[in-house]
Amino acid sequence: MKKNQQKNQQKKSTKKSIKKPAAWPYKRNILFRPERMKYVRKLIKIEACVFCRSANEEISVETLCVYKTQHTQILLNKYPYNNGHLLILPLVHVGDLMDLSSERFDDLHRVTRLAIQALQAVYQPGGYNIGLNNGVAAGAGIPDHLHYHLIPRWSGDLNFFPLIAETKVVIETVEDSYIKFFNYFKKVI
Ligand SMILES: [Zn+2]
Repeated sequence: MKKNQQKNQQKKSTKKSIKKPAAWPYKRNILFRPERMKYVRKLIKIEACVFCRSANEEISVETLCVYKTQHTQILLNKYPYNNGHLLILPLVHVGDLMDLSSERFDDLHRVTRLAIQALQAVYQPGGYNIGLNNGVAAGAGIPDHLHYHLIPRWSGDLNFFPLIAETKVVIETVEDSYIKFFNYFKKVI
């Protein structure tokens, strides 16, 4: 009997420890998904850094890089949360915003505004989410190479629940989005 009771107690305590907090800020948090960390980090260790690859190669649909300056690049997210989901990041392999030189920091933010302009021109969203996951604890998908997410939003587009359930409403292929942005940057810059 005692053993059974102990087992039951152990089961209860295990269940309690894995229960996630139900507070709404956690559920609404679409940019920061720390539960994906382990998976992504394993991939990165095997393949080397995909952001460095695009930094070192020519602009192309293979690396999803659509625009580049001396210090900064704009990529399409291979796994978009919404159509037109962009990443803005330094060419240099740095994981912390505080480690960027002033010149690189300034260029990163100048290009972030260019990306917003591109997004407005190509997709005319009602608004956008912009965010940076700085560090592993903050849920960065590729924590060693910092990157801003820029996600277009339309009223009532996702309402967060499809994202929680891992079913995303992305109606366009990443390649189609790439062509739209590529043509935009070719014309404008
Ligand atoms: Zn890198």
